[in-house]
Amino acid sequence: MESLRPARPELENLLPYDAAEIRAEVVLASNEHPDNLPGELLEKLADLTRVIPYNRYPDPMCTRLREMIAEANGLDPENVLVGNGGDELIFDLLLAWAGHGRVLIDLPPTFSMYGISARVLGTTVVEVPRLPDFHIDGKALLTRLAQGGVDIVMIANPNNPTGTLADEQLLIDVLNATDALVLVDEAYFEFSRHTMRPHMGRHKNLVILRTFSKAFSFAGLRAGYVLAHEDVIRELRKVRQPYSVNRFTQAAAALVFRERPVFEAGISQLLRNRDMLVTGLSSLEGVEVFPSEANFVLFRVEHASALWRDLLHEHSVLVRNLARAQGLTDCLRVTVGTESEVQWFLRAMEEVLAGRRVSALFGMQATASRYMEAGE
Ligand code: PMP
Repeated sequence: MESLRPARPELENLLPYDAAEIRAEVVLASNEHPDNLPGELLEKLADLTRVIPYNRYPDPMCTRLREMIAEANGLDPENVLVGNGGDELIFDLLLAWAGHGRVLIDLPPTFSMYGISARVLGTTVVEVPRLPDFHIDGKALLTRLAQGGVDIVMIANPNNPTGTLADEQLLIDVLNATDALVLVDEAYFEFSRHTMRPHMGRHKNLVILRTFSKAFSFAGLRAGYVLAHEDVIRELRKVRQPYSVNRFTQAAAALVFRERPVFEAGISQLLRNRDMLVTGLSSLEGVEVFPSEANFVLFRVEHASALWRDLLHEHSVLVRNLARAQGLTDCLRVTVGTESEVQWFLRAMEEVLAGRRVSALFGMQATASRYMEAGE
């Protein structure tokens, strides 16, 4: 057949998430941990690879890992579900609670996968934009919830890409204001140390999401989990792919979770590097830095897309360009890397900005301005 039936109409205006793979020497674009797993764990993983029965399907419920996560959080295994990264669990939540004729409240600018996955499923997405300082517009959110008809709310806390932590009382008010499922996405919990876990007992509609990707150097292996009421987990089990978490990931995640104190020093180091990054960025003229409780920092600078290109092409530093995202005009997001990566990035920023000043002084267009209209 030469012709092809179109895909579902919901896909027509959607773009694939972040398809471009861009190479650079210093990659600070995806909020990953800058270091691979610690050497001692890599050794243990190497031993594991030889004893895993790869011919057998994995345990669909990741029983061992599930029990460990439940115990660490003072919950029963029935309150835990492990998935192939947080992204899959977000999709599962939407499969179960969203879709045609159902309503998601999204709080942009925020993690784009909420809106993308919801739209793929034909969900009506109601946006309650954040305030200019990126805090949640509590009044607008509570007003919309009071109108009813909302099925699910997704709140990243701290928020990606802004780093903003929500006011805990506002989250409690949201949980009280609706019977919609409320996802509090704690993907960056290990950096913020803030959790809504203590409120689970009182709020059946609270779901917490965590990931191994960030603090545990696990982005390439894919594991995340939700903590929720058993009734929520029961519904999620109906829609999930049973074998999405493979045997190797399950074994590796169990090892990493058991040994998680090993990661504490690395997390503290990243927090110190974040301070260095914020201090360095704030000292640069024309750069507005937003406070962050996560392992990344958002900043605003004139002609951000041009700066993004200069960082990449002249200094081989890759950060995330958000300049064209809703509410993020002229914003870039940089992940907290190792100390030397942060220093490399800050030096690159200084040089690009200094180059601009020199060009302006001589009445030329800023070096970067030739890229300005390229629209990155
Ligand atoms: N939630 C938030 C807020 C995130 O930033 C991310 C990763 N960028 C995820 C969930 C998903 O992470 P993963 O799929 O790697 O677990």
